[in-house]
Amino acid sequence: MKLERVELRRIDIPLRTPFRTSLGLELRRDILLMRIDTADGHGWGECVALPEPGYSEEYLDGSAAVIQRFLLPAVAALDDLTPARAAAAMAAVPGHPMAKATVEMAVTDAWLRHHRASYADYLGGVRDAVDCGVSVGIADTVGQLLDEVEGYVADGYRRVKLKIEPGWDLEPVRAVRERFPDVVLQVDANAAYTLSDARRLAQLDDFDLAMLEQPLSSSDVRDHATLARGLRTPICLDESITSARSAVDAIALGACAIVNIKAGRVGGYLEARRIHDVCATHSIPVWCGGMLETGLGQAANLALAALPGFTLPADIAPSLRYFDTDITAPITMRDGRIAVPELPGLGLEPVPEIVARYTTDVVTLSDFG
Ligand code: MG
Repeated sequence: MKLERVELRRIDIPLRTPFRTSLGLELRRDILLMRIDTADGHGWGECVALPEPGYSEEYLDGSAAVIQRFLLPAVAALDDLTPARAAAAMAAVPGHPMAKATVEMAVTDAWLRHHRASYADYLGGVRDAVDCGVSVGIADTVGQLLDEVEGYVADGYRRVKLKIEPGWDLEPVRAVRERFPDVVLQVDANAAYTLSDARRLAQLDDFDLAMLEQPLSSSDVRDHATLARGLRTPICLDESITSARSAVDAIALGACAIVNIKAGRVGGYLEARRIHDVCATHSIPVWCGGMLETGLGQAANLALAALPGFTLPADIAPSLRYFDTDITAPITMRDGRIAVPELPGLGLEPVPEIVARYTTDVVTLSDFG
């Protein structure tokens, strides 16, 4: 397989409900899609970078530039293109994991379609369906939050995750726990606290939470270990885990009891699988995080979440959680679970008319020198 043509397409989809975290308010989802064509078929990738740095250093325009200028030329030079060879060729460029994951995803989709194998089978999936959790942004009032959570519980989600930040933590979490005593509940701080907040965070122990996700800055791995020693609530790391090696270090330090795996954060699904393997070796449960992906990204995440170590509900949601009209056939949830796609590659494709409706820019590349 060899790269012949690449289309980099920007789409802009309105979100059904604004999503607010400690990092800001998202009203729309500006997304970079990549389609690659080879003599053996085509494949799709989706970039999870957000328009602005915040979750991490990466941002969408930067990812698009590094893909076009540096990653694609490295991958196009390969005469026998495979997912692992593409990842290895891109490793010469430091950083930019979300950009690399986009290219690797498209190559993997094309390669698997050609070989008539599904993404889940390629990664080592063992499940036909994945348990779904819902991630709930910061609300204007506790009353609004309770109404929102009530809707999600009625929808059948198997776990509720609340975003927290200083000024929006103990009160909303207590209110949700009192109203829904039996729901599996966890919180995500997106690195909004410091170790000086340890006493306040320890008060979350009263609410029987499944985990406290990324309370401290991504670089404060040792502080997470210190914090963990004073908490009963298990600590889950998200932003801090950028590779299998960083997972090994965090586990050795006692900084986490659970890991949230996002392929975009770690440079692709192959590295995501290695993190899964490292965590499984240390009996650390993992779950699949989300970045407000379209059906394409959700399909790849479903394949990842089908691996045996993904024993906790994923941040994978039906299309209607985010979009009135997804760019693929809608992802649907039944009884709090979503089926893992079985067809070759990602198992689904963007619908051309829908993609066209949301497209804001297209760049086509075919001369890679
Ligand atoms: Mg998180």
